[in-house]
Amino acid sequence: TFSQAKPHIALVGGGPAGYYAAQQLLKGNPHIVVDIYEKLPVPFGLVRFGVAPDHPEVKNVINSFTQTALNERCHFFGNIEVGKDISLKSLRDSYTAVVLCYGAADDKMLGIPGENLSNVLSARSFVGWYNGNPDDKNLPVDLDCESAIVLGHGNVAVDVARILLTPTNILEKTDITEHSLEILRKSRIQKVYIVGRRGPLQVAFTIKELREMINLPNTRTIIQPPDVEGLDKIIQDIPRPRRRLTELMFKSAVAPSPEMAQLWVQASREWRLVFLRSPVEICQTAGGKVGGVKFIVNKLHVSDQGSCSPVNSNKLQGDNLETQKAVPTDSVETINCGLVLRSIGYRSLPLDNMLPFDENKGVIQHQQSRVHNNKDLYCTGWSANGPVGVILGTMSDAFETGKVVLEDIENGTLLCKERSKRENLVAQIKDKAVTFSDWLKIDKSECAAGELVGKPREKLIDVQQMLSIARS
Ligand code: FAD
Repeated sequence: TFSQAKPHIALVGGGPAGYYAAQQLLKGNPHIVVDIYEKLPVPFGLVRFGVAPDHPEVKNVINSFTQTALNERCHFFGNIEVGKDISLKSLRDSYTAVVLCYGAADDKMLGIPGENLSNVLSARSFVGWYNGNPDDKNLPVDLDCESAIVLGHGNVAVDVARILLTPTNILEKTDITEHSLEILRKSRIQKVYIVGRRGPLQVAFTIKELREMINLPNTRTIIQPPDVEGLDKIIQDIPRPRRRLTELMFKSAVAPSPEMAQLWVQASREWRLVFLRSPVEICQTAGGKVGGVKFIVNKLHVSDQGSCSPVNSNKLQGDNLETQKAVPTDSVETINCGLVLRSIGYRSLPLDNMLPFDENKGVIQHQQSRVHNNKDLYCTGWSANGPVGVILGTMSDAFETGKVVLEDIENGTLLCKERSKRENLVAQIKDKAVTFSDWLKIDKSECAAGELVGKPREKLIDVQQMLSIARS
């Protein structure tokens, strides 16, 4: 009978959402078997290819993913892209349920003239380049210029700015890729602008990232005092943790400690936090290179039941910070630079054209992880809820999804398929797939290569190289 049959669940994507969902499923039902299908030959998604190389502590989650992966009821099929190597339909035909957790593989565009110039890069690709994503290994990064502009006020924007300004003798001790280190060593960049369309109360980066920027060696922080004017009067009304972040911005702009001020005077590099600017055009030099970005200057309005009223900073309340909109003024301004990094957000893509997908938000349509009108299909993580937030948020999402699937198994909504169906499918992809023990070989080889040069690991950046080690 079905109650004795084993539920087999396929997870699409081996990032945090996939591993946390697997953990919950394995814990909640002693019979469940979980198969993780991953496009790349290596697991862990953005923990490997997103999280900054100088944040090794964040990557400790890999230890708990490895625990999950070593459970004998959990299988990893790397190097298998769903939608290309196997179809979503064949997974649905062969498994009790399919959980989509394939992240966000694209990024938002600005849609302005000049965006296609050669040194205008997406932060997503730039991050992939220094973190060893095989897709980004040939990104043409030109750091033979003095200034860079990073567009966006989130943690990814701050990550890329920090990598541009961190001395390479510090980066050398991380798992940053060797090919990017070579280019960073020759970098002439002295100045990085981090530009956002709204004000200091709407930034999306967090205090840890700001603190790291302020403490960068040989680098001064410039936040213009008029930009933070009046913030001291409302700071006590701002809910934490934004209050502490705002305090730090205010202090850095207006009253840095004497030691800090002294260090900043001597610094040869600088970063500037720029507010209330929306890019309208990327300008070209006569030689066809990036010459700068033209911005329109914004002011902030609170949107109140459809009507817009100017912000009165004395009346700012924590709960209306998020609803303040940037509206353009008549002023324009150009900032010169030779590199532009666009960091205005990631975007998920529909895996299959049958999938109910919200094109506007770039997410799969679902209710409590249950994909609309598709009984055996679930989704979680960034592909379900949008590319925002940290691993902890992805973890709660994925645990919830795991519970929903377990509930639907318990209440009989999901029925186990014949075991041979899953076995046949696995037999089809077996030769191409990289297993978790294959990954452990790649891991070992990367760590050994890293040890030779004083790094935690030297990542392989080429799929063929990964495969040849996996198969050795
Ligand atoms: P992902 O991590 O993107 O995993 C999705 C996986 O699916 C990938 O491995 C992908 O290869 C695979 N996949 C895609 N398509 C297919 C397909 N068709 N078939 C099979 N597999 C497929 N959070 C923190 O807590 N701390 C940080 O310091 C931090 N830094 C970050 C830095 C950057 C640059 C970015 C972008 C994010 C950062 N985050 C950080 C957030 C964190 O990475 C995310 O919360 C988390 O990775 C989302 O997990 P996910 O599994 O939904 O997506």
